[in-house]
Amino acid sequence: MELRCEDCAGCCVDWRALAPDAAGSDRAGDRPPLDDVYGLAPLTRDEVAAFLEDGLGDALVPRLFEPAERDATASIDGVEVAAADDRPVFVIGLRKPPKPVAPIGTDEPRWLDACVFLDPTTLQCRIHGGDLYPRTCSTYPGHNLELDAETECERVEDAGGGDRLLDDEPPTDLPAPAFGPQALGTTVFAYPDPDDLDGVVDRIRTDSLTADDRARFVGAAVGSRPGSLSVDRDRMAGARERAREADSWAGRAIRAWTERAAGDGDPASLGVDSRNRLIRELEDDAGAPGTPGWD
Ligand code: SF4
Ligand code: SF4
Repeated sequence: MELRCEDCAGCCVDWRALAPDAAGSDRAGDRPPLDDVYGLAPLTRDEVAAFLEDGLGDALVPRLFEPAERDATASIDGVEVAAADDRPVFVIGLRKPPKPVAPIGTDEPRWLDACVFLDPTTLQCRIHGGDLYPRTCSTYPGHNLELDAETECERVEDAGGGDRLLDDEPPTDLPAPAFGPQALGTTVFAYPDPDDLDGVVDRIRTDSLTADDRARFVGAAVGSRPGSLSVDRDRMAGARERAREADSWAGRAIRAWTERAAGDGDPASLGVDSRNRLIRELEDDAGAPGTPGWD
């Protein structure tokens, strides 16, 4: 597998507004998510715990799913969601606020939803290669290549974003995929108290989850036991509390970008200097790890 990622960030940015015909959708497949986030990278339980440990619980977001035909379901707000027994199943990913970015080989920065850890200036990942770098990101698009499924890199190529997938031989050392029965309690979790989730479906669909909503799911993920539906209640409560109290540069940047953003795909008419100043102020100077640039 060999990729050319410079000036791309196709797997970190929602670029549907730039090239709707070429971009894919997380809504394909047997279990469409309730939200409309593009390319959410699911985290393992231990990765969720590590983000929490680093005070970054406010960078995390849950995803619930519509049920596939033969799935068990649970009802939240009168809506049936995919479940294991009567517990809604969910994954945890990284939040994607609107940022002024010019991905997939474009020149003009636009307001597009982008991973909170994507440096809008260099289009590099701020946690690349570090302890928090998610396995889903470090192995992408290995599983797609193994399954002969379309990759984001090829979609970017189709959108005119340059040659990206230079060698499509999948790596030999891929970890287990994020979905499937082996993933229960590791990347796919089951929420133990569905009666506590009033209003959550509507808030997921309208992208208005509260810090308390997000913390509930983060707590349940960290409290999960691999291969099992049960949760450790003490670990769950501690993680929930910690997630609710998180106040990191990432959470503050998400709020600040969201307040400033224009419509999805609109030009970010800030001027080069003020855009750079804003990125420095909201991210780098606020504590975000730097990126080396491509030179
Ligand atoms: S963690 Fe890094 S590689 Fe993964 S989606 Fe976010 S910016 Fe992209
Ligand atoms: S879509 Fe492919 S080429 Fe583009 S940044 Fe992601 S992995 Fe790299």
